[in-house]
Amino acid sequence: MKLILLGPPAAGKGTQAELITERYGVAHISTGDMLRAQIAAGTELGRLAKSIIDDGNLVPDDIIIAMVQKRIAEDDCKAGFLLDGFPRTIAQAEALEAIAEIDAVLDIDVESELIINRVASRRVCPACGHTQSVHEGEQELCAKCGDKLIQRADDTPERMRHRLEVYRERTLPLINYYSERGKLVPIDGARAIREVSAQIFDFMDGAIASAAREDYKSDEE
Ligand code: AMP
Repeated sequence: MKLILLGPPAAGKGTQAELITERYGVAHISTGDMLRAQIAAGTELGRLAKSIIDDGNLVPDDIIIAMVQKRIAEDDCKAGFLLDGFPRTIAQAEALEAIAEIDAVLDIDVESELIINRVASRRVCPACGHTQSVHEGEQELCAKCGDKLIQRADDTPERMRHRLEVYRERTLPLINYYSERGKLVPIDGARAIREVSAQIFDFMDGAIASAAREDYKSDEE
């Protein structure tokens, strides 16, 4: 399946993407992770992206579109992929239409106030990219690889407020865009992680079963 995970920053897209890729074996394409890898490697793109990301703004469409186009052409995407953090603008969505036919857009909806609360406890592992929440008194170590967790520079409450404004202005129009194309699947992201993934798995298992029935019918005909 070719899927998009849509939703505001800190809606839990990265966490759900990990669970989806574990269960369905599709390639995980996170444009945020790809840009952070460029920053860590000190490339020209990384240097350009760093200040944009730290300020909570969007990297120019042409750069992101070229990066995604190249990634989707790789072998591991042939069996399906999950786009996490892309598209973020109508121009990116239009460019994507020319690259691949998307099956569904999972829209994880969470209220802004809950996001601002969540971000204070959100930490990321610089070694493996895993994201998790930490609570007072807890050791800030990655649950996956044991490395020391850090807070992303763009995860302070002030920067998150700005990122949410950018989301409302630039990314929210995608909800109508995909709804008009009959691709939007609303997911309630305010619930616990396992309850959010249960909604996603229900949808995906249903979609996979109905695709299998269609295949069976066309083999019969
Ligand atoms: P994320 O990890 O998805 O929250 O992305 C972190 C930051 O990377 C965003 O706030 C943007 O600055 C940049 N970024 C990631 N994906 C995109 C995209 N599709 N278009 C533009 N900028 C992006």
